[in-house]
Amino acid sequence: MVEFFIAENNEIELVEYDAGATLTDLAAELESFRETAPDLKTGKCRGCGECCSDNIPVLGLDFAVLGIDPATLSAGTALSGTEFMVSGADPSVSGFDSSASAGKPFPDPWQAAGSILVLPDKPDLAFRRKAIKEMCEWTSIPEIEATLLFEYNNAEPLILAKQASGECCFLKGGLCSSYTKRPYSCGLYLCNMGRRLAYIQEMIVRQGTWHAYSKLGWIGEDELRHNPFLKADSYDKLLVSDFEFDLKNTSEQLFFYF
Ligand code: SF4
Ligand code: SF4
Repeated sequence: MVEFFIAENNEIELVEYDAGATLTDLAAELESFRETAPDLKTGKCRGCGECCSDNIPVLGLDFAVLGIDPATLSAGTALSGTEFMVSGADPSVSGFDSSASAGKPFPDPWQAAGSILVLPDKPDLAFRRKAIKEMCEWTSIPEIEATLLFEYNNAEPLILAKQASGECCFLKGGLCSSYTKRPYSCGLYLCNMGRRLAYIQEMIVRQGTWHAYSKLGWIGEDELRHNPFLKADSYDKLLVSDFEFDLKNTSEQLFFYF
């Protein structure tokens, strides 16, 4: 069970959750709770869709949800920072600009299929290792905390492609055309989340982004052994508690030293 309440500033905040509460439980119970507060903007999310113009993170486990084979994506390392064509997407909602693809190694059938994903630049692993090592050497922060802090501050997510209007490629007539197969963060995000809830959501996105990098072959799993996403193959097998890392002490130490 996951418990929420409405804070004084009309934010929806997390109270507590059972030890066995999963990421699926968190999203489902947040969805139920917001509907019990019709006076809040999020009580009627379905008629808004404004956040569908934001950059929507696509996490490692979302590849399967969206029907994307990451092995195919990682084959085109030159595609970093570009839209990647995925077979099966609806070309009528694609924001893909064919002129921008000139010289890019997309097979023709994919170009006709439309685009649903934008890849970030690859992470600089030498920089990552150096930064984590220096954080440990210059402070008394344990390596795991230094790693989590680095990953929190350096996780450029894969995102859903947008239409020319700036809306998500799946948004049609103000409604999601891929509602049952949308990225996890679409179901967890609310524009009025309280601080604790927002922190957990951010941590899920950052760890899910590094997990996506590993699925793309951009980083080895041996460097991500702490990542909860490596333990499961679906959101209903991952515990909320695994994402509520306490980095307060780490941040305080860094503030003291730098
Ligand atoms: S969460 Fe998104 S869809 Fe819901 S009210 Fe806020 S902006 Fe609108
Ligand atoms: S996948 Fe659906 S819910 Fe998510 S941003 Fe796109 S239109 Fe909105």
